[in-house]
Amino acid sequence: MTFEDFDLDDILLEAIKKQGYHKPTPIQEAAIPILLERQDILAGAATGTGKTAAFVLPILQYLLDEPKRSSRHPRVLILSPTRELAFQIHRVVNQLGSYGNFPSVIITGGFKQTQQTEILTQHCDILVATPGRLAKLMEEEHVDLSYIEIVIIDEADRMLDMGQGPTVRALLDSIPTDFIAGLFSATLSGKGIERFAEEILEEPQIVQMDAPNQKSEQIQQAVYLANDKAHKQAILANIVNDSSCQSAIVFCNKKEKAIEVTEWLQSQNISAQVLHGDFIQAVRLEKLKKFKSNKIKVMVATDVAARGLDMLQITHVINYDIPYRGDIYIHRIGRTGRAQQVGIAINLVERHDLKNLERIEYHLEQSLPVEKIAGLEPSFTLKDTLKKRKKKKKSSKAKRPKKKKAKK
Ligand code: AMP
Repeated sequence: MTFEDFDLDDILLEAIKKQGYHKPTPIQEAAIPILLERQDILAGAATGTGKTAAFVLPILQYLLDEPKRSSRHPRVLILSPTRELAFQIHRVVNQLGSYGNFPSVIITGGFKQTQQTEILTQHCDILVATPGRLAKLMEEEHVDLSYIEIVIIDEADRMLDMGQGPTVRALLDSIPTDFIAGLFSATLSGKGIERFAEEILEEPQIVQMDAPNQKSEQIQQAVYLANDKAHKQAILANIVNDSSCQSAIVFCNKKEKAIEVTEWLQSQNISAQVLHGDFIQAVRLEKLKKFKSNKIKVMVATDVAARGLDMLQITHVINYDIPYRGDIYIHRIGRTGRAQQVGIAINLVERHDLKNLERIEYHLEQSLPVEKIAGLEPSFTLKDTLKKRKKKKKSSKAKRPKKKKAKK
């Protein structure tokens, strides 16, 4: 299938070509025709699958088919759980709409509200927003959503995780007319998403792409065992200094650890910077810009950076800390191996990380291969350590006194 097979306007095909997209990705193949038919869609697709273009292209086509220039109110609302993702979506809107006139604005937290009320006085067809700030501006009557004809909710699962469900519902309640709705989510399972979809969508077409844990074929994953902190740091430096590593994200579970790792990398003359949730938006954007333009090789991040970063050139994702949950792991490694490129995901595992590693492997339904670097071999093996742990567990269970049954 090619993009020409969809009934898209030439100016959109031209923009697609400019982006270097040769053929639609599976989610684009599935979702574009549904939205072009103006049907509601519930799509299970993770970041990195090309889902943004899957909803942006039909939106732009809709605006071309239904030109209405009289109102200054937005006609399309795209909601994103995070600022980074909102900026990324807005960029795709601008890229794919670059040969036409598709006025769009972005509204997110992290900027002065007065600046944003000013933005909202401009004519715009497409409004990309995070729910919290938009709700506030709506309450103060700076924005009128009653002209909205299409609503896209991106990363709905993440939105629910972040507790944004009620805000999104309140926003949608203020759209009185019938609208075309699309709900995109990395996962479609779970009561929360099902109920959210039921409330928002009308007879949706359901599209489920490969579960993200199967997508990891494009990503070579490996485990490196480390005896202690110094050993872990030496392995990290070795991987980052390898010629195959051009751009890496190193994930830590906590801000303090991320700062420590960054300082250590810098002390080794490795160009690194830290990204965590405490930075104001302008600083975060500046850091991302430097990283994207390859001025910085290593970004040490907490999970705030795991979503919404769209950087094709990331060759390595390194888990300095193993995350607590499988879905977080999937989102982290999804930063590499994007759009048909092969990426490398590395897990640095000390003994105390083994419990988390087991949990991740259970989630992935696979064991990750253990690799070694010559001269930096660990003094223990995974097998022996797991055996020892099982034995210890058994003996502590045996020692535990049995609970007495309550007398009837
Ligand atoms: P997304 O899942 O929307 O975050 O997209 C992931 C990456 O895939 C982005 O860098 C897009 O530019 C890229 N992309 C989207 N569609 C295509 C396509 N049809 N062919 C190649 N790359 C694409």
